[in-house]
Amino acid sequence: MSSRPTKEPVTVPPHIQTRLEAAGLRRTLATRAVLGLFLAQPHGGLSHAQALNALTARGLDINRVTLYRLLDRLAVCGVLQRHTDDQARTWRFNLAPQESQARETGTAPLFECDACHRQLRVADASASTQTLAQDVFSALARLGHRGARVEVAVHGTCMDCLEPAA
Ligand SMILES: [Zn+2]
Repeated sequence: MSSRPTKEPVTVPPHIQTRLEAAGLRRTLATRAVLGLFLAQPHGGLSHAQALNALTARGLDINRVTLYRLLDRLAVCGVLQRHTDDQARTWRFNLAPQESQARETGTAPLFECDACHRQLRVADASASTQTLAQDVFSALARLGHRGARVEVAVHGTCMDCLEPAA
């Protein structure tokens, strides 16, 4: 008989927190529950159905489409990795390793809110920044220079400053 509380507090590691913020993902109850699930088993992969079952067992009421979108968004922003499972013919998700995230954020543009000076990396744009970097490097190479690193900084107003939380 186990009567453990179903809502354990989830401590989100800083590198994951950075990724979530960079992708503009709100820390909803569902997001925290999904992260808690994967943080509890960092090496094992979970299919969408397994994640849904585990979350339901933990007492979270989440609909399968919402979970699908959430898993996809977490994969896109680099928190989770998605790979195919040939046997089960389905997607499996697991936590992305920390070091590959650090490498990716190296090319992601930096966004700074002019109101609160919060800074975050726009992880979704790292591929386009890479393309931009290549263009700049080619232009420099034609002039005989050698570029090594491009930093893109974007200024604006962050989500929280645009619409203060109720
Ligand atoms: Zn702000």
